[in-house]
Amino acid sequence: MDLKSLIRDIPDFPKPGILFRDITTLLRDPEGLRYTIDFFTEKCIESGLKADYVVGMESRGFIFAAPLAYKLNAGFIPVRKPGKLPAPVHSIEYELEYGTDCLEMHQDSLYPHSRVLIVDDLIATGGTASATAKLIQKIGCELVGFGFIIELRDLQGRKHLPDVPIVSLIEY
Ligand code: 5GP
Repeated sequence: MDLKSLIRDIPDFPKPGILFRDITTLLRDPEGLRYTIDFFTEKCIESGLKADYVVGMESRGFIFAAPLAYKLNAGFIPVRKPGKLPAPVHSIEYELEYGTDCLEMHQDSLYPHSRVLIVDDLIATGGTASATAKLIQKIGCELVGFGFIIELRDLQGRKHLPDVPIVSLIEY
């Protein structure tokens, strides 16, 4: 299936000069959604990604991480923006183009030596995925790999990630 044809390009969103890759058009397509999750699962298995937990980043990461966890017989763990999770959290700050941002995860959601797969809808500069990896490695978990629906290759985000398998379904 031509997944790229289900992604809608929105110029100048959220800021002038940015071409936003909109996944909502893929999500509303029943065959496209099913195919995406099945293909994602297949590629993760082919790449030898055996995980106890799939960690997904707020908010579009959740959409793909949870069904992937279900298919891989793994648990799903949300990584969220500050102040959203109710129990005690581990946090990590990371650099943005202008300023910093922060991600949080429940302290009791992961323990040392858990095998973790990190999933987001898209990798651009790699800042979000790299910060999540640091959070997971700080806890002493085994990071088995990364999964993205879309990879923006020109931005070379994968250069900022640890040396583990990276699965992506659509490249620009
Ligand atoms: P990075 O941290 O790799 O620079 O940016 C990736 C994060 O920003 C992901 O969480 C992703 O959801 C979001 N993001 C950045 N650009 C886009 C885009 O064009 N489309 C979508 N769907 N998400 C984007």
